[in-house]
Amino acid sequence: MTETNKKGKKLGLTTKTFIALIAGAIVGVIMHYCVPSGYIKDTILVNGVFYVVGNGFLRLMQMLVVPLVFCSLVCGSAAIGDTQTLGKVGVKTICFYFVTTALAVGVALAFANVINPGLGLNMEAVVAAENTAVSTDVSFVDTLLNIIPKNPIQGLAEGNMLQIILFALIIGIILAKLGEKTSTVLNFFTQFNDIMMEMTMMVMALAPYGVFCLIAKTFSGIGFDAFIPLLKYMLGVLGALAIQCFGVYMIMLVLFTRLSPVKFIKKFFPVMAFAFSTATSNATIPLSIDTLAEKMGVSRRISSFTIPLGATINMDGTAIMQGVAVVFAAQAFGIELGVAEYITVIATAALASIGTAGVPGVGLITLSMVFNSVGLPLEGITLIMGIDRILDMTRTAVNITGDAVCTTIVAHQNGELNREIFETE
Ligand code: ASP
Repeated sequence: MTETNKKGKKLGLTTKTFIALIAGAIVGVIMHYCVPSGYIKDTILVNGVFYVVGNGFLRLMQMLVVPLVFCSLVCGSAAIGDTQTLGKVGVKTICFYFVTTALAVGVALAFANVINPGLGLNMEAVVAAENTAVSTDVSFVDTLLNIIPKNPIQGLAEGNMLQIILFALIIGIILAKLGEKTSTVLNFFTQFNDIMMEMTMMVMALAPYGVFCLIAKTFSGIGFDAFIPLLKYMLGVLGALAIQCFGVYMIMLVLFTRLSPVKFIKKFFPVMAFAFSTATSNATIPLSIDTLAEKMGVSRRISSFTIPLGATINMDGTAIMQGVAVVFAAQAFGIELGVAEYITVIATAALASIGTAGVPGVGLITLSMVFNSVGLPLEGITLIMGIDRILDMTRTAVNITGDAVCTTIVAHQNGELNREIFETE
């Protein structure tokens, strides 16, 4: 195995990414507290090297998303062929996604009621100068209708994931139906898919550098000061995220597949680190599909469909933040929430999770929908805005882990999981 440094062997990508993550955080915190602002720190390092390398890497990953999702989904659905199997996989996946999200909000509400994040909060000290003009205008029917692209090319250009998924699925199904007649087109997509996979591997080799710079830049900007007054809220979110990620998901994994959770986390770690450092589920799609295929033995036929779908509609980490935020704001404003309100929160947070795009910070915007549903003042969102970045990073890592666990389970149930690959180190 390549994961060890003993006898001069090369470090694996997982180890390198992990080291980069920790080193980036340490360097960032040191820079925040110990290095005075100035040309070298601000211009050359933080907004120079860290910004360019970090965002360059992020843009490279984003560059892969649309072509990779489109091609692999066309190939995947063409390979599955019959619409019945596709439909079964789709319905099962969506059910898993919905159940895990509802569980996530439940975990969040229960945990937050133990921690009591909003009790005894000195609000004056925390209320930021910024004002929230957060508003959501999410109509459920329009969201559904919007899955059908009026112009698929525009959908692709705008990276509208649900539109891309639908259009690619239809092309794949038709390719399977027409068979020989369209084999040239299918070959084209298959070969283009190979090119995109190769490109993913090349870009991923840069992950440790990108992760280091993104994390160092974030931490050199935020330090820890802003967190102190909201420590309980943060602990509430982080605790509930940990329960969901290492408890709920791993229990599900063992129950449904009997795979080793430790191995799963170990193998999936670079994807989590990437999601953590970028706070975007969307940009994580190529890496997630690749890791599931190469290290866990999950067929791309399943993951090319379920991972982009999950990155778009399944945000368990976001739902957790929203659950804890509700309890936090209710306590901070002295508002009593009853059972009916809690049920409403579970339902709206699950819906908000579908409406949350897989890019940084959107969970905070859809939070207003959840607050509105139980009549909490939107000012509550202002309280937590200043510290949301670090929670956004963490919840994104959980969001994509949820997608990967559900994908592995669905793949297992459809005979699309190669356990031998999973078992190899
Ligand atoms: N950043 C999250 C994601 O990409 C979404 C959010 O909660 O803001 O999954």
